[in-house]
Amino acid sequence: MNILNLMRCSECKEEAIIKIPYAHKYLCKEHFIQWFENRVERTVRKYNMLEGTRKLAIAVSGGKDSTTLLHVMTKIAEKEGIEIIGITIDLGIDMGKKYSAKSVEFAIKNYEMLGVKYRIVKLKEEYGFTIDEAKVKIRRPVCSTCGLTKRYILEKVAKEESADTLATGHNLNDVAQYVLTGYYNGDILSLARLRPVSPAENGYIKKIKPLFLSPEKEIMTYALVKGIPFIYDSCPHTFRVGGETQDKIRRTIEEMEDKIPGFMISLVTNFEEKFRPLIEDIPKETLGKCKICGMPTNKGREICSFCATRMKLTEVKVNS
Ligand code: SF4
Ligand code: ZN
Ligand code: ZN
Repeated sequence: MNILNLMRCSECKEEAIIKIPYAHKYLCKEHFIQWFENRVERTVRKYNMLEGTRKLAIAVSGGKDSTTLLHVMTKIAEKEGIEIIGITIDLGIDMGKKYSAKSVEFAIKNYEMLGVKYRIVKLKEEYGFTIDEAKVKIRRPVCSTCGLTKRYILEKVAKEESADTLATGHNLNDVAQYVLTGYYNGDILSLARLRPVSPAENGYIKKIKPLFLSPEKEIMTYALVKGIPFIYDSCPHTFRVGGETQDKIRRTIEEMEDKIPGFMISLVTNFEEKFRPLIEDIPKETLGKCKICGMPTNKGREICSFCATRMKLTEVKVNS
């Protein structure tokens, strides 16, 4: 018998479905849904994520984080009178598992369930390559090319759709891992870039992470109890994400959370509230404009990293 079957909700004494150790609570389905949605809404308000937003683009991969984000943000946006557009990229990851095809199907199921407008970007059709091809042809880790591609397309499509803000599904575990990795590597620049809200600047639109303080386990529970359709399989390239040290850091954080409930929230909120002010004034890179696509470029380069990668992959001169 599941131990939780013996426990009662701390709010109403119904049967509990989840234990929230850092809050010393057991919650039933109804109170957990309320607890989860309230926290996302509080995070959105705490960091003024939707201030000045008229149209919100939401990046939806079809996984549990982004589909949950879509459901919760649709509710919040409705209350605020904000228009929503979902963006999904068909990355062309197959590896015999039809991973991208299935992910896109799940994203569409959610858009249709919620009646949300959306755009599907087919990487092969619109940009001439797939992530599986990038893995074979480009020497750097496939996740680095994939990350670059997703950031570029989301930014571009959000602008084309006249959205002023882009929401992504990074969760508390992702952010805690990023913070600890930043400390471990002494990488102050990457820590300075990590924010719940990245303001619109240097030609980029505003980015927000509404699940910044939501643990992965609670997101999974929310998606399951709400009956949200999402792809359960991991990307067939996952084992390459960040390599072994990254995986160990993530596992260590999760072990620390078991030993010290609330460890991840403290790590992230202390970083944001106490450490961030010390690095706020680090000068930002000055960006240029890509002479091929007009999007922002790094470090004074004439061509942005995405166009350079695309040219290598398609072996043709990119002119759009
Ligand atoms: Fe892309 Fe890597 Fe994520 Fe797969 S695991 S979707 S290749 S970033
Ligand atoms: Zn209850
Ligand atoms: Zn470019």
